[in-house]
Amino acid sequence: MTVPPNSSLPDESAERVTALLKALTLKEKISLMSGQDFWSLPPIPRLGIPSLVVSDGPTGLRSTNSEPATVFPVGVAMAASWNDDLAREVGSAIAREAIAYGVDVLLAPAINIQRTPLGGRNFETYSEDPHLAGDIAAAYIEGVQSQGVGTSLKHYAANNQEHERMRGSSNMSQRVLREIYLAAFEKAIRRSNPWTIMSAYNRVNGTYASEHRQLLTDILRDEWGYDGVVVSDWGAAKSTIASVRNGLDLEMPGPGRHYGQPLEHAVATGEVDETDIDVHVRRILKLILRAGLLDNNPKASRAALNTPEHRSLARRAATESMVLLKNKDACLPLKQSQRIAVIGAPAHRPTIQGGGSSQVSPFRIVNPLDAMHETLTGWDFAYAQGIDHEASAPVIDARLLRDEHGEEGLTARYYTDNTFSGDSILVERDWRFFKLGFGNAAQTVEAPDFAVEWTGTFTPERDGTHEFVLSHTCPRVELYLDGTPLIDAATPADTEMLFMFLQMNVSRASRDLEAGRAYPIRIRYSQPVEGAIPGFNVFSVSLRPPAPSFEDAVALAADSDVAVIFAGSGSTSETEGCDRQEMALDAGQTRLIESVASACPKTVVVLNIGAPVEMPWVDKVDAILLSWLPGQEGGYAVTDLLSGKLSPSGKLPVTFPKAYRDNPTWLYYPGGSQADYGEGLFVGYRYYDSADIDPLFPFGHGLTYSHFEIDHLSVPDMAQAGDTVTVSLRLKNVGDCCGQETVQVYVEDCATQETCPIQQLRAFRKVRLEPGEERVLQFELQARAFSWFDTDKNDWSVTPGRYVVHAGFSSRDLHVNAPIELIVKAP
Ligand code: BGC
Repeated sequence: MTVPPNSSLPDESAERVTALLKALTLKEKISLMSGQDFWSLPPIPRLGIPSLVVSDGPTGLRSTNSEPATVFPVGVAMAASWNDDLAREVGSAIAREAIAYGVDVLLAPAINIQRTPLGGRNFETYSEDPHLAGDIAAAYIEGVQSQGVGTSLKHYAANNQEHERMRGSSNMSQRVLREIYLAAFEKAIRRSNPWTIMSAYNRVNGTYASEHRQLLTDILRDEWGYDGVVVSDWGAAKSTIASVRNGLDLEMPGPGRHYGQPLEHAVATGEVDETDIDVHVRRILKLILRAGLLDNNPKASRAALNTPEHRSLARRAATESMVLLKNKDACLPLKQSQRIAVIGAPAHRPTIQGGGSSQVSPFRIVNPLDAMHETLTGWDFAYAQGIDHEASAPVIDARLLRDEHGEEGLTARYYTDNTFSGDSILVERDWRFFKLGFGNAAQTVEAPDFAVEWTGTFTPERDGTHEFVLSHTCPRVELYLDGTPLIDAATPADTEMLFMFLQMNVSRASRDLEAGRAYPIRIRYSQPVEGAIPGFNVFSVSLRPPAPSFEDAVALAADSDVAVIFAGSGSTSETEGCDRQEMALDAGQTRLIESVASACPKTVVVLNIGAPVEMPWVDKVDAILLSWLPGQEGGYAVTDLLSGKLSPSGKLPVTFPKAYRDNPTWLYYPGGSQADYGEGLFVGYRYYDSADIDPLFPFGHGLTYSHFEIDHLSVPDMAQAGDTVTVSLRLKNVGDCCGQETVQVYVEDCATQETCPIQQLRAFRKVRLEPGEERVLQFELQARAFSWFDTDKNDWSVTPGRYVVHAGFSSRDLHVNAPIELIVKAP
């Protein structure tokens, strides 16, 4: 079900906004400019204005009480689908789940350019290329907003690394800012008008993004005509007067630290004029109208959660995003006649998403091994884990736990005080032990103390030392195993920063345990009144079990026809708050892949990662399937592709260099608190292609089980500079199975005297063709496809002269090209 985009409001809305504005007192106006708490704006009951609710995020609705929602593939995976219709469908599904949780504005999508392969949030964002990122973002926004839910396009702008995340300055020329770091925002804003935009934590050329006049007013409002709300990232507002004057409408989270009382004071002293306040409040009122809050919230009827349609969409999205990087001698698809060794922890326990604010509590996690057993009946599989690849202890595997009724997980009891006294207010089975916000059942603003106890049994899989780790915002936790305390008040707790802004207490303890024995377990969390933040309790239970046998995995591979090794970055190293330490997989996995590859006649590697990794073993294995962080249904998607039920169709939205030092940011990253974007325009393939450095796998690369050809490229010989140029070509499926291929159109600028990347992606289309089928495709290349940003003119410019249009299947697999001469436009 779709409804027309609700980004423009009927004419009478301006009058409604004016009338409301008139009725508001100054204090009420200022109250609307910051949150009442972490996730909502204050209501104004006397005027019938309800509270507007926001929540993350990009890969699914993150309930602020850690309740489940469908987890879709992460951002980079969505971009790897190169399918904007799919992004639109995923956007609308997430919006329907947001409605089910009463959320009016979704804090997504994140479209920052993937500048360094080490960026901690690369998984969450789309691409190294602004055209691709902008297109996918625009479609996603259209999808969300078609359901009457707003979006928050983030993080505006130049927020490309986690190092010095709260104060670093991204320093670059105006040309680089426009052509690379603002281009995706501009495209998404002009095409789909997100209701809100989130200003970033970082500074840009020395000024904080949340008080940056050029970004927030000159470009966003005056040039792009943006009419929505600018909201600060959580804690990104740094000032009162500079923010309010330069364009920040809403400070989050609440209550206001720089707005609120300090803003009231600034108006009282005349430093800020009430007419300036009105400008911001108008936009916020308009947002409240757009969300339908003054019209009985008509979107409420569209709520949908965990439906079969959402699950199958998550599966389709995962399938379309996975990239077949290598397939020597048609090693894939696997054959039913083969004896198959499945190796590696991600086969059994995949990482379905990255860490941080985008983390969603899944409804379920379909792992590849179970999906293979379920959907490939009669096939011969055996499994060995081989290695522990986690950098830090991962969240406890609920399959090792049983609640009081013998179900997976533990029994949770919630109490409304912190002494576990009286009757519990809620009893439920719980199996998700990473909680970014929970306790709503027992905690209120008026009575913020509460407690929870989880009970049941824990049955280890292997003999040996088990390390338990509890991370908690509350001061007091306990863990009893087999009736005796393992963690309690006497256990010293370390403090660590979560996502670089939230102080966590971390308590750990180890015990030797026997495999197969069901140990009674009891975990307690108690939050006193002091220090309580209603709606923001964070808690996780992690466990590092003893390491599995490496030798068993290699022996299994030696006894099989083909080994499928699942390798990845683990569940803790790709996260908001810190960049990755290195681009390599851990040494243990490299050794495992090399040992298995020399023991088994054929080796397939399935990579469970959200950002590029080095692959020193690339020539030793036969096939590589990149499954990304594929969301909750990823196990089915991997199985459908490995078995040949479907042909892979994902394409890399980011280059995989051979080694980190090949990346252009190697010379500049991290750059302390002054991040010098010294590589300029030469980000990703713009650098590798211009400098003629062979990447491991180029931007746009991705194989299928079929084979496609392009011909008949038609480009006009001549056109007026500034006009739209139409190019066409023919795509044919010359293979023997149905498949999808993505045609990519790059433009080479031979005219402009200023430095330019050798070629830039300007259009693409993903097409499904049956064997033997062909289709003529047309692409409209608008003026911007031939433009560069002229800093002297402070405007875009098209230089008359010669350009070459290239088309193909990756930035390094271009099959056809044709020149075009742009001539000076007649006055
Ligand atoms: C993140 C944002 C997120 C916000 C609210 C911040 O730390 O940078 O992406 O939307 O938190 O969770």
